[in-house]
Amino acid sequence: MKNIIIFGAPGSGKGTYSDEIVTKYHMGHISTGDVLRAQIKAGTELGKTAQSYIDNGQLLPDELMIDILANAYDQFPAGQGVIFDGFPRTIPQAEALKKMLAERGHDMGMMIELIVGEDVLMQRLLRRAIEQGRADDNEETIKKRFAVYHSQTAPLSDWFAKEGIRHTFSWAELGSKEGMLEAIFKTIDEQA
Ligand code: AMP
Repeated sequence: MKNIIIFGAPGSGKGTYSDEIVTKYHMGHISTGDVLRAQIKAGTELGKTAQSYIDNGQLLPDELMIDILANAYDQFPAGQGVIFDGFPRTIPQAEALKKMLAERGHDMGMMIELIVGEDVLMQRLLRRAIEQGRADDNEETIKKRFAVYHSQTAPLSDWFAKEGIRHTFSWAELGSKEGMLEAIFKTIDEQA
C-alpha cells in the first residue's frame, strides 16, 4: 500500500477521514497532533514544550517534528503504508519527509487535500470544543491556527501539486461526509 498524506485546514476532517481510510485499507496512521497530546497527558518534557505551542495555536519547531515523525514512521512494518495526518505543515517538513522516505526506499505516495470553507470550519471546531474538550478549540486560538495555516501550511498545496501527487476534495462540491468518502476511496483505488 502506498503512503497517504492527508492535508487541510484545522477542522477539515483529517482525523475523521484518516480513521475511515485506516479501517478500509488497514494502513498505519500517524497523527502528529495526537502524538503531542499523548505526550502532554503523560507529562513528559516534550509534552511540556508542546503545550505552550499548542495553546498558542503555533507550530512546534520543524527539527523537533521531523524527529518525532521519523521515529513514529519506523514503528510500522515497511510497506504497510502509512497515513500522515497533520504532517507536513511547512515546506521544510515536506522536504524532510520526502528525504526521510527516500532514505528508506519509500515515497510519499499520494496527497489528499480536504477543501472546506472557513465558516464551516469554525462551526465544526467550536462544536468539537464542546464534544471533545480540546483546549485549543476556542475561538481566539482557532483564529490563530487559521492564520498559521494560511501563512505556513497552505503554500504546501502547490508544493504537492508540483510533486504531481495532489488530489483535491471539496466539501462545497461533494456535499457530505459520504460524498467525500466515496470520492476519496475511488481515488485511492485508482492509485493503488
Ligand atoms: P492537530 O491535532 O493536527 O490540529 O495539531 C494540534 C497542534 O499540534 C497544532 O496546532 C500544532 O501546535 C501542533 N502540531 C501538530 N502537528 C504539527 C506539525 N506537523 N508541525 C508543527 N506543529 C504541529
